[in-house]
Amino acid sequence: MPAKGDLNPETISDSKKRRVNHLCEPQMDVPDGYIRLSGDLEHDNIVNGPGLRAVIWTQGCRQHCPGCQNPETWTEDPDVGALVKIEKVKDELRQLKGQSGLTFCGGEPLLQAKACYEIAKFCHEELGWNVWSFTGLVLEQLPHEGPVWDFVCELDALIDGPFIQSQRDLTLKFRGSRNQRILHLDHGKITSQE
Ligand code: SF4
Repeated sequence: MPAKGDLNPETISDSKKRRVNHLCEPQMDVPDGYIRLSGDLEHDNIVNGPGLRAVIWTQGCRQHCPGCQNPETWTEDPDVGALVKIEKVKDELRQLKGQSGLTFCGGEPLLQAKACYEIAKFCHEELGWNVWSFTGLVLEQLPHEGPVWDFVCELDALIDGPFIQSQRDLTLKFRGSRNQRILHLDHGKITSQE
């Protein structure tokens, strides 16, 4: 679980707010209508949320957690990863059969919140799927406005918090460390948590 002081938006220090803003400010070099991916679209995945799921792997993360399993997804170098049209991602998702949802993994999906929002909305409205996302940030610290918040409000669940090696726990469902929470959401409000 995050420390108590991290969960009250009223008491977060200005320096922490600046750090959080930096960690989720939009990526450079990703034009509107595109998303930068670190890997191919996956399907039939059972380890990143309930049921059979499609998974989108985003490129870019500024947290740099020691022990991260995907350090190759950190860089925002425009030569790394694949710049893909959002419409192409939607077309690929449309072709998938038997999936109950989509999960955004990374990397840090919030760096590309606008593109993720568009895809999440499509999954809800056209495919009837539930949508989950990981983030290395803590929900209560996120800016409650703009593209990041629009994306959070489109999610059914957010798995939040950085990976912390000293809290690593292989028995946890869908998470790597005990500080990370599965937050079930309704328009950005926590309805339950695991
Ligand atoms: S937030 Fe996730 S992707 Fe980013 S460094 Fe931490 S564990 Fe790795």
